[in-house]
Amino acid sequence: TSASPPAQALTLLRDIWGYPQFRWRQGEIVAQVAAGGNALVLMPTGGGKSLCYQLPALLRPGVGVVVSPLIALMQDQVDALRQLGVRAAFLNSSLSVEGVRDVETALRSGELDLLYVAPERLLMEGTLWMLEGVPLALFAIDEAHCVSQWGHDFRPEYQGLGVLAERFPDVPRIALTATADARTRADIVSVLGLEAAPQFVASFDRPNIQYRVTGKDNAKRQLLHFIRAEHEGDAGIVYCLSRKSVEETAAFLSAEGIEALPYHAGLSHAQRQEAQARFLREDGLVVVATVAFGMGIDKPDVRFVAHLDLPKSLEGYYQETGRAGRDGEASTAWMVYGLGDVVNLRRMLSGSTAPDWVQRIEAAKLDALLSFCESAGCRRESLLAYFGEEYRGPCGNCDNCQNPPAQRELTREAQMALSAAVRTAKDGYGYGAAHLTDVLLGRETERVRARGHHRLPTFGVGKEHHESVWRGILRQMVALGYLTAGEGGGLHATPRSRELLDGSAQFLLREEAAQPRERREKRAK
Ligand code: ADP
Ligand code: ZN
Repeated sequence: TSASPPAQALTLLRDIWGYPQFRWRQGEIVAQVAAGGNALVLMPTGGGKSLCYQLPALLRPGVGVVVSPLIALMQDQVDALRQLGVRAAFLNSSLSVEGVRDVETALRSGELDLLYVAPERLLMEGTLWMLEGVPLALFAIDEAHCVSQWGHDFRPEYQGLGVLAERFPDVPRIALTATADARTRADIVSVLGLEAAPQFVASFDRPNIQYRVTGKDNAKRQLLHFIRAEHEGDAGIVYCLSRKSVEETAAFLSAEGIEALPYHAGLSHAQRQEAQARFLREDGLVVVATVAFGMGIDKPDVRFVAHLDLPKSLEGYYQETGRAGRDGEASTAWMVYGLGDVVNLRRMLSGSTAPDWVQRIEAAKLDALLSFCESAGCRRESLLAYFGEEYRGPCGNCDNCQNPPAQRELTREAQMALSAAVRTAKDGYGYGAAHLTDVLLGRETERVRARGHHRLPTFGVGKEHHESVWRGILRQMVALGYLTAGEGGGLHATPRSRELLDGSAQFLLREEAAQPRERREKRAK
């Protein structure tokens, strides 16, 4: 499979695209598909996937059919190809009846090199029938992770693409994606019938990005401290979950002298365009955004990406942090998270009306994200492991490698916290972390007295630890599933809690989780 591409491929690469050589394994992939073989290509965004199907489509007789869910981008892609002199067109719901007719005519008369099609359009019997009547160079299935229910972008239409292998067994299929963990990859292979196809998997490693995760204390202040200390005057993206916190954070940074623009779906199209244009044009601007920002933005010198709220999954985290340091220079992926985030995300899940299997997938993804956050090992190692890549840390660049967190064995404390949760809970109503902390620290608040919690045997048993230690313990317990958050944020025991009580599990607290760096510094002063 590692054949070299035909000489003609290099000529086209230079004459049409003006590139002197292939990047990474593009040449091998082109050779594989040009020779009529199938392939699965996994490459991070910006890696150069398009060429892997565009070039073979030109080398082979017939038209190359590109399946893409990104209808909004088809026009741009086709325009760009036409500028290079490639005969390209697209078929999707945005076309008029005449528009469709023109494309079909061009297709039938062999005047197209590449045809972009939305999956639902491709799967219409009329389209399949038409394609059976013309010579086809290949099928390229872009964003192939959409076939997987496990993927973050599942599209039911994509599952129908299995017909390509059945109805066009002699036409090569090349599936491409930028995000596919092992499970998604297996789904792509089985749905698209690529069992025998070679897989070209580029590394997802981004060595110039420093991954850091820290306990949330006062998120905005922590962010300010981080930017001032390490990224004054740098371009960066700050992600928040809600529009409100986007607005507040942007205003806060601006008031502190760090120019920051808000970006979220509640702003007008013109406002968003303006923010995007300024971000690309100006130096050292910070954009505070919901996840809507960043798709298709190619700014090479983004020096930091900060998360003030947890993303929904590690795929999301990887994509968002991946917008930093495209130029290869040192950059920071910085995130704060706290018990509130964990409770919120868990609650969103348990309140979900999605089908069972979807909820199970979402829960597993959240677990993966939380265990990444709580990990005391190399961040890069656990991130890459999630994408099925074997990498042995220490990387020497992430927070845990540079500053290995002490792990304290606090099983007894975890048992105390559990006991406080169990003893205070009544009629299915549980108390939140703040109240449990009051009980553990022996604080006679009004609420504690009113509920008689000062008479519990657990009252005051945790005095020897600082409040922030308890906050860390409770957060990690929820993250690891020893406690679960019910309605209103009340914490309850879980079936897993037993492992702590009977001593079959140890509870190790990351020291850093309990005492954010910012605090230690303040105290030292
Ligand atoms: P992807 O689809 O993987 O996100 P693209 O196919 O859009 O990436 O390519 C990303 C960028 O890399 C584009 O600007 C493209 O022109 C450029 N590129 C791709 N292949 C090469 C190459 N062999 N040499 C130089 N630039 C390339
Ligand atoms: Zn590391």
